[in-house]
Amino acid sequence: MKELNNFDKAYRTNVDTKFCTLPWLHLATHPIGVVTPCCVADMKNGASFSQSPEGKNYKLSKDPLPEIANSPRFNKVRKQMIQGIEPDVCKNCYFYERNKVGSKRYDANNQFADLIDDCFKNTNPDGSLKELNYRYIELRLGNVCNLKCVTCNGFSSSKWNEDVLAFKDTQFETIYPKIDKTVEWYRDTNFYDELFRYCTDLREIWINGGEPTLIKEHGYFLQKFIDNRSCENIELHYSLNCTAFPDKFIEQWKQFKNVKIHLSIDDLQDRIHYVRFPSRWDVTYKNLEKILKYKDIFNIQILQTVSMLNIANMNNFKKFTNELGIEWLMNFVKYPDYLGVKNLPEDLKKEVLNNIDLLSEEEQNKVVVEVTQQRDEVLYQKFLEFVTRLDNKRNIDIKKYLPEWEIYFKDYKIS
Ligand code: SF4
Repeated sequence: MKELNNFDKAYRTNVDTKFCTLPWLHLATHPIGVVTPCCVADMKNGASFSQSPEGKNYKLSKDPLPEIANSPRFNKVRKQMIQGIEPDVCKNCYFYERNKVGSKRYDANNQFADLIDDCFKNTNPDGSLKELNYRYIELRLGNVCNLKCVTCNGFSSSKWNEDVLAFKDTQFETIYPKIDKTVEWYRDTNFYDELFRYCTDLREIWINGGEPTLIKEHGYFLQKFIDNRSCENIELHYSLNCTAFPDKFIEQWKQFKNVKIHLSIDDLQDRIHYVRFPSRWDVTYKNLEKILKYKDIFNIQILQTVSMLNIANMNNFKKFTNELGIEWLMNFVKYPDYLGVKNLPEDLKKEVLNNIDLLSEEEQNKVVVEVTQQRDEVLYQKFLEFVTRLDNKRNIDIKKYLPEWEIYFKDYKIS
């Protein structure tokens, strides 16, 4: 235990510690039933998936939660953090912090600062947990969804599976495989019963999807916290796609300590039809108005997924959120990497940076850090090919909806 004590001491004196509370306190689930240390840990080629010692991905509702939490990969992440080493799968957080724009790690360590001592005490020398006691869980309730956003894939959207044939025998085939839904863990009440046993001191539940309001079974899980009244200590956090209004859950939500709702609206007017295909602005806006009626009892924010597709429309988006009087958060796409904004052509980068003056200083900084990263021409070519193949399959044209791309796709042909 010597190294724990040493690091425990170092944590208090060294602000540059690599420690993060989430691998100790958090369950981050994914639609196909795999688990990662958190939602921003590196998922390329499944790098952060919890795996058995034999290298098999653990799956929710099939494998016991203590085994998932104490997988060799998760133990290694905790042990490295204790030793002051940056785990490879956490590189995004350290990158953001070096660029002074905050990180999920930073937020989590603030949120759970009072539990940091307990994290150390609850750790065996090999990095495993003595006891499993989740304080924060994220449930990505499968891939049932009525949209197929360009930035998404079949793992998170059942509707995306309609388009995966567009990528058969191409370089994109492994990113867009046909998803075989063998285990619908998010409909399994036995899974919810097991999870509930490890949630005696839970503080936050984050529910998303797919579109979580389409999975009525998660109401069974919420009801357990209502029945034992621990709901009064738990914050609920939802991510909704604004294509429907979740009437059936409102009464349950009102029982919880508070409710934060992130609305996934990535662009405006006709542009949203392309970006979050096949959304319609009139439907999105109607549901937005209905949800905003609850502004006084629920904390409602817009969480925009920012990619190559919408980065040129930031000033207009800022005006829109200002008019609504609601907070706007940005989540920059890292995966798939060819949709990341660092790959914009240089002249479009300039245009973007000249059109963010309505954003706050903090928001502008975030955009600048992302856009000014070294671009990768190979990834840009991949972006052009991906969009062209997808447009052909969907019988749609990016040039019609996102005019800033007109000159780049005008003469483009897949070689
Ligand atoms: S350091 Fe960042 S990526 Fe790693 S577990 Fe914490 S929040 Fe997630």
